[in-house]
Amino acid sequence: MRFASIGSGSEGNGTLISCGETLILLDCGFSAKETVRRLREKQVEPEQLTAILVTHEHADHIKGVSVLSSKYNVPVYLSWGTFCCKALRQRPLDETLVNVITPHEKFVVGDIQVQSVPVPHDAREPIQFIFSNDKWRLGVITDTGSVTPHIISVYGNCDALLLECNHDSELLANGPYPYALKRRVAGDFGHLNNQQAALLLKAVYSDRMQHLIVTHVSQKNNHPDRVKDALVAAIQCNPDWIQMADQACGFDWLEFESKSFESNDSESKDSESNSSEEKEFSIETVSIA
Ligand SMILES: [Zn+2]
Ligand SMILES: [Zn+2]
Repeated sequence: MRFASIGSGSEGNGTLISCGETLILLDCGFSAKETVRRLREKQVEPEQLTAILVTHEHADHIKGVSVLSSKYNVPVYLSWGTFCCKALRQRPLDETLVNVITPHEKFVVGDIQVQSVPVPHDAREPIQFIFSNDKWRLGVITDTGSVTPHIISVYGNCDALLLECNHDSELLANGPYPYALKRRVAGDFGHLNNQQAALLLKAVYSDRMQHLIVTHVSQKNNHPDRVKDALVAAIQCNPDWIQMADQACGFDWLEFESKSFESNDSESKDSESNSSEEKEFSIETVSIA
């Protein structure tokens, strides 16, 4: 399994998840033409897409979905609420390509197992996703609103996490947005600030996590240094280990590495070498102001 981003932020989002012959595009918040250009930057042709999954109907996630899907005959997976939204009625999806999914449901797209997770964002029926195969587990959570106990309970034990760190509370409060937009972004159905993201990370982090990628970062109301300060304080990691997805290019393909104990020659070690045990995921109580 490997993954990449074609762009991340309020101007448009798209994440690629690849496993075997299966290639998923998660959200398509750029025009179809721009999406194709960005896919090619990641060495992907649109005809290779197995499916487009949609988190919710905000323009930065659905702008190119209908055109890309119908032009290249790509099935679309989305919640009923997202399917019924006004934006998609104006540019209807080809219904023969629509797969309506139920939040909380697990389903399979080719070689990839998918778990959908409902989140409290200000859309009709927003969901986020965890992708896995028999070996690896990739959690993606953007447009979160606020952290729920359910979110904490399902995002543990990820080998990689794409985590929304939308804004810094202080920069948002003193920034250029009008008051109503500041309230929306900072509200319980808007976006996670750095401190909320850090609390979520602390609750779900395990030493199994190989990649942590910060996503959906506001260009006006946040700064990479503030993001990293918050996350490093939460899990005491090396700041250079944290990767940032940006609006222009997202991030390039990332893969997972088997840990050394998994690649050891089994007959060369006695039982001591098999004592590595999967770290138990523990749920912590997280209070969000
Ligand atoms: Zn949104
Ligand atoms: Zn968004």
